[in-house]
Amino acid sequence: PSGPVIGSLGELLVEFVCEQKDGRNLVPAAYRGPFPSGAPGIFIDQAARCGARAVFAGAVGTDAFGTVIFDRLVGDGVSASLIRRVAGVPTGSAHVSYNSDGSRDFVFNMAHSAAAHFPKGDEAVRGFLSAGCQVLHVSGSALGDPAMRAAVFDVCTALHGAGVSLSIDPNIRTELVSDAGYLQTVRALIALSDYVLPSDADAALLWPDTTFADWSASLSARHIALKRGDKGAVLKSGGTITGLPAARVTVIDPTGAGDCFCGTVVTLLAAGMAAPDALARGVAAGALAVSALGPMEGNATLSTIEAALAGA
Ligand code: ATP
Ligand code: MG
Repeated sequence: PSGPVIGSLGELLVEFVCEQKDGRNLVPAAYRGPFPSGAPGIFIDQAARCGARAVFAGAVGTDAFGTVIFDRLVGDGVSASLIRRVAGVPTGSAHVSYNSDGSRDFVFNMAHSAAAHFPKGDEAVRGFLSAGCQVLHVSGSALGDPAMRAAVFDVCTALHGAGVSLSIDPNIRTELVSDAGYLQTVRALIALSDYVLPSDADAALLWPDTTFADWSASLSARHIALKRGDKGAVLKSGGTITGLPAARVTVIDPTGAGDCFCGTVVTLLAAGMAAPDALARGVAAGALAVSALGPMEGNATLSTIEAALAGA
């Protein structure tokens, strides 16, 4: 591909999806998996599928789950240059169980897994810079654990200082947040970012009782997207606000739609596509994402997304 060089870093996980609702991961039930996952992993896979030259600083174990993730990302075109296979620790994992009210419960195995061993410090900074990284995307899910948070923040500030654009999806997962430094770091990264892409729930937590127009005006980011689930999405780019409704689809598995949306929109905006066109493709990609079981099974190439748009 000749697209923009997009980077991300953080957790790579396998995910298991409970087949029954309302068990809250507390009762025996059938789970489907292993599916390749991890919010930044979903993002970078989708960026690659949309034509980015994609670079990811991450780590998996030498076990079978690690192979599941490694083979998917590299098979979809993500560079293997900064993906480690670490012996002696298991590959990270997540179990998700849905509830009838639309909420979901996660059990994560991340901070003590291979996922936490992603390349850090100089190794990561040099790797991203030598790849020509133009945008580095961060998911808030990688900022819950204090050690991972410090490492991610360090790489972000170094790359920002070297002229790389930052992108952040607050992607707040309460199961991962262990201390108060989390929100402070999310806010610090938002202030440095050119792309800010919260969900409705993230925005309600970060800017309570304010409208999109108000909180987006308080940010210096060039591109601000609000992900609204089945209500669609809004994008403010260069001062112009565009909103689009969601496509009507049957929801099979909502997890990962946000990361897929971000991977699509950030890649296309970085490639120079007009904001309304990038938003339309992001919304179509999100609809494809929720239509498949598994967090990145609904990721799609730009041509598949455009075919879905044309058929809509
Ligand atoms: P996650 O954190 O689970 O990855 P998110 O909360 O960050 O998701 P969403 O708003 O759920 O992000 O999804 C991103 C985009 O995908 C939405 O803006 C919308 O365009 C599309 N989408 C999400 N849910 C649906 C749905 N039920 N039907 C159609 N499109 C959807
Ligand atoms: Mg999200």
